[in-house]
Amino acid sequence: MTKAHGFAAQSGDTPLAPFTFDRRAPRANDVAIDILHCGVCHSDLHTARSEWEGTLYPCVPGHEIVGKVTAVGGDVTKFAVGDLVGVGCMVDSCQHCSACDEGLEQFCENGFTGTYGAPDPDFGYTFGGYSDHIVVREEFVLKVTHPETDLAAVAPLLCAGITTWSPLRHWKVGPGTKVGIVGIGGLGHMGVKLAHALGAHVVAFTTSESKRQDALALGADEVVVSRDQAQMDAHANSFDFILNTVAASHNLDAFMLLLKRDGAMTLVGVPEHPHPSPSIANLIFRRRTLSGSLIGGIAETQEMLDFCAENGILSDIEAIPIQEINTAYERMLKSDVKYRFVIDMDSVKAAA
Ligand SMILES: [Zn+2]
Ligand SMILES: [Zn+2]
Repeated sequence: MTKAHGFAAQSGDTPLAPFTFDRRAPRANDVAIDILHCGVCHSDLHTARSEWEGTLYPCVPGHEIVGKVTAVGGDVTKFAVGDLVGVGCMVDSCQHCSACDEGLEQFCENGFTGTYGAPDPDFGYTFGGYSDHIVVREEFVLKVTHPETDLAAVAPLLCAGITTWSPLRHWKVGPGTKVGIVGIGGLGHMGVKLAHALGAHVVAFTTSESKRQDALALGADEVVVSRDQAQMDAHANSFDFILNTVAASHNLDAFMLLLKRDGAMTLVGVPEHPHPSPSIANLIFRRRTLSGSLIGGIAETQEMLDFCAENGILSDIEAIPIQEINTAYERMLKSDVKYRFVIDMDSVKAAA
C-alpha cells in the first residue's frame, strides 16, 4: 500500500480539506499513475455535498484524471512507465456481461465501479482524483496522445468530453446533419466543439444573449436565445439531433418541436426536480425520439481522446490549486467558469 494525499469532504456540509488515505499496491494488471491534473465536474459537488443519495465519507471526488504512469504490474501490456494517461468515471466492471462484451462498460449489468464512492473490496469504497496518485486496472486506463503541455485541458475530456461524444456518435452526427446543443457550460462547450469537428451544422441554444460571441467562438454556426420565441420558431422541424446538457428542470417541448421527422433529442443531465412531461403528440406526429445517454464506454472514450488529439481539441479551462476547491464549487453554482475548473495537483504535492 501507499499513502495518498488529497482533499476530502468529511460530511455533506463541511468544506473539502486535506486528507490522507491508502491506495493499493499495483497488482499484476494494474497501472500506478502520478496524477498531474483533475477536472472539477458538477457530479463531484453533488456527491461531496450529499445532494445525491448514498455519499460515503470521507469522500474524495474527481473523475477527470490525467497523469503519468509511475509503475505497471507484470501482466500490463498496453502501458509503460512515463506514458501520459487518463482515467475517467469508471475504474472497473464485470468484464463478462453483454454490455461489457460490447465495450459499453457504463451499462455493465453487474454495475460498473465508479472512480469514487463505489464499493471496493480493499478499502470499503473508492477514492477519486483529487489526490496525488491512483492505481487502476489496465482496462480502465486511457492513452493520452496530446502534447504534454496541453495535459490540464485534456482532463475534462474524461467526463465532459465523453458524455457529449458518445451520444453525438451514437446518433451519427456528421457532415449534413443539423445539431443543436442546449446549454453552454462544462458539457455544452465540449458538445459544440465536438459536433463542429465532426462536420455538423451546429446551433447553440443559450438563455442569455451575452453568451452569443462565446458560443460562436467555440464553433457554433448559429446561436439561438431560447427565451426568444421568434428565434425558436425560425428553427421549427429542422434538427436531426439535439443534445440537451441542461440539468435544471425545463420545458422539453420547446426543443422537441424543433426536431424534424425521425429526429432525436438526448438528455445527459439529471434534474433535481423532474422535467414537466413532454407532449406525446409531439413525439407521435413526427416519430420523434426522446432519450438519455450516460458517459461512454472505454473504447469510445479512447476514440474520443484520439479524435481530440488529431484535431487539436481541448477543453477551455481555468486552472486552480486544490486549496481553492471550495471557492470553485461556489463559482460553479453561479456558472462563473469558462468552462471547467481543473486542479493542478502540484498544489497537493507541495502541501503534503
Ligand atoms: Zn463528471
Ligand atoms: Zn459487465
